[in-house]
Amino acid sequence: MYNESGLEGGLGLFLVIGLFAVTFAVGVMLLVWFLRSRRSTANLSEGQIPKESDVETFSRRQADFAVQKPRETLPDALIKTRESLFGRLQNVFGRRATLSDQEREDLEEILYTADLGPQTVQELLDHVFLKLKNSGETGFEAVRRELHSKMLEILTRFPTETKESAVANEDGLESLNIFSNLPSVLMVVGVNGAGKTTTIGKISAKLGARGKRVLVAAGDTFRAAAGEQLRMWTDRAGSAPEGTGCVEIFDPENVSEPSAVAYQALELARAKKFDIVIVDTAGRLHTQKNLMDELKKMKRVLTKLDSSAPHETLLVLDANSGQNALIQAKEFHEALKVDGVVLTKLDGSAKGGVAIGITNEVGIPVKLIGVGEKIGDLRVFDPVSFVNSILS
Ligand code: GDP
Repeated sequence: MYNESGLEGGLGLFLVIGLFAVTFAVGVMLLVWFLRSRRSTANLSEGQIPKESDVETFSRRQADFAVQKPRETLPDALIKTRESLFGRLQNVFGRRATLSDQEREDLEEILYTADLGPQTVQELLDHVFLKLKNSGETGFEAVRRELHSKMLEILTRFPTETKESAVANEDGLESLNIFSNLPSVLMVVGVNGAGKTTTIGKISAKLGARGKRVLVAAGDTFRAAAGEQLRMWTDRAGSAPEGTGCVEIFDPENVSEPSAVAYQALELARAKKFDIVIVDTAGRLHTQKNLMDELKKMKRVLTKLDSSAPHETLLVLDANSGQNALIQAKEFHEALKVDGVVLTKLDGSAKGGVAIGITNEVGIPVKLIGVGEKIGDLRVFDPVSFVNSILS
């Protein structure tokens, strides 16, 4: 009896110790895995060429990038813009075949409040009234047709060849000049909150899906959380092990100068044969002038390593900011010679018409559009579907 219970007690103790040992071993393994996955770019000093181990690696399988399909169709995303333009036109004109003075005034009002930009509205009105005068037509259909043709004419002023191939390619990146230089530098600018980080994540994922090696430089050293936020997106940009494409982040803790981050990132990309460097930038400084000076300096510093860098400068604009987006486009373009615009948050915005104002009044093409917060919600800007979506 005594012996039996002693045996049971010994067995119980043995099981408890065994369980404890297994739990401990699993805990240690998890801790090692966690620490390895947190390998960071810490302890880099300026001027020191970063080692491969200084960047976080998110190498992913190509197939896993490819499954990230866009969520919304363009007509879905533009539904509010369509309501604010086509819907209101329809309400005013109904399907009548005349265009009275009152209806002309209503047309002016609708266009002026549709965030197209004042100069663009005037050009559209001049075009519509002239065409109708020449043809003798007066009806709603004629107004719609002429608005459609003038808007399309504005939006296709830039070479359509690249746009067509971008549409054909589906991922839309063909319109960006980031494939001819090795490595190419893509600089992403725009005010805070416009959607820069999200857009960088989306572009990185598409590039990863193409099997490109992408290095994202965390150049917004003024915003404490910027690097961390970028890290979350680059992490999301690829979520499967192994493969040819990879998205890595360069976020050196001890480098506070944005230009130094950009410079070192390009240096590393050259040494380690990355295909593309995406440079994130600050969106706000004490004054707009300080911000522009900082961004200009970043561009200058990059040219010291490669006289043609950055090869593409993209301005990210929030469609909801309407006329402000137009003002920002003018300011950024004047200071930095922007190559193209990414118009974000078109989903749910009634102000998508600003795309026409930006192209017409600032002279830069809208190349990509953001239609949601998910990683696949980035689309090529296709003028024909855009105009069809808002005017029919
Ligand atoms: P940043 O400050 O310019 O880097 O802007 P973020 O990338 O942090 O984006 C600001 C907010 O806008 C975030 O909540 C994003 O999820 C959101 N956002 C970005 N792009 C889009 C888009 O295309 N559609 C929608 N609905 N939200 C977006």
